[in-house]
Amino acid sequence: MADQIRIKDLEVYGNHGVYKEEQVLGQKFLISAVLYTDTKRAGVSDQLKYSVDYGQVCKKIKEMMEKHTFQLIERAAEVVAKNLLLEFSLLEKVEIEVKKPWAPIGLPLDYVSVKIQRGWHRAYIGVGSNMGDRMEYINHAIDQIEEQEDTKVVHVSSLIETKPYGGVEQDDFLNGCIAIDTLKEPEELLDFLMDIEQQAGRKRTIHWGPRTLDLDILMYDDLVMNERKLTIPHKEMHKRMFVLEPLAEIAPYLMHPLLKETVLQLKDKVVEEENKK
Ligand code: AMP
Repeated sequence: MADQIRIKDLEVYGNHGVYKEEQVLGQKFLISAVLYTDTKRAGVSDQLKYSVDYGQVCKKIKEMMEKHTFQLIERAAEVVAKNLLLEFSLLEKVEIEVKKPWAPIGLPLDYVSVKIQRGWHRAYIGVGSNMGDRMEYINHAIDQIEEQEDTKVVHVSSLIETKPYGGVEQDDFLNGCIAIDTLKEPEELLDFLMDIEQQAGRKRTIHWGPRTLDLDILMYDDLVMNERKLTIPHKEMHKRMFVLEPLAEIAPYLMHPLLKETVLQLKDKVVEEENKK
């Protein structure tokens, strides 16, 4: 979204800093915000309800900066960004800069500042289970995701019965996909999903072996990443019918950012391959 509402150098007084004096005496902070929101509807209708009220945003920033005591302006920026994104539903992304003009470092400076961008991300998660009450494990996982204040479950696919993958003798799987909107960054999302897996009592003994719960990040916006712990899009998603079928139900035209094909096209390819066998 290219439209922006910009707030520059809102002056607030807060008790933030690593030093005791800073936390007791307080000092001046200047907050700038870029609010990313589609202004078209407000522009056409001339009605405030279709936009993000920058007066309310300024009040919220002031409240956050005055209510809390943070050691770091990194933390102040993080808390301000998160609270704005949670409170103003039309906000897609924010940029927050926290300036500290009186930073007590014993040297003259104009100001020191931290600037961050945070926003909502659309992610697709693959869910699977082939032990115990499979439906219950999956539904409980979806509930746990939904309970997070920074994550909303937007679509849930049907669950399908699938034969196990990878040659290990085991029961059939129940597989599905969900779409979420989340403020969590990719690694944070992975840690959170692994926590849910752990709670479901999953044991990582046999590779491709039976599991009470498997949660995979399939896609995250149109992000492409390949780190030690995390590969996005998921490495195997374009080969697996048990991913593509439920994903095609909730996001048929979602584009794979590397293969440049839609989920529906990827699914049709796998079907074609299987028919050839
Ligand atoms: P598995 O549960 O067998 O799918 O494997 C989970 C492991 O794969 C985790 O330890 C992750 O660090 C790693 N991994 C890499 N990419 C992803 C991804 N996109 N989603 C979930 N786990 C991933």
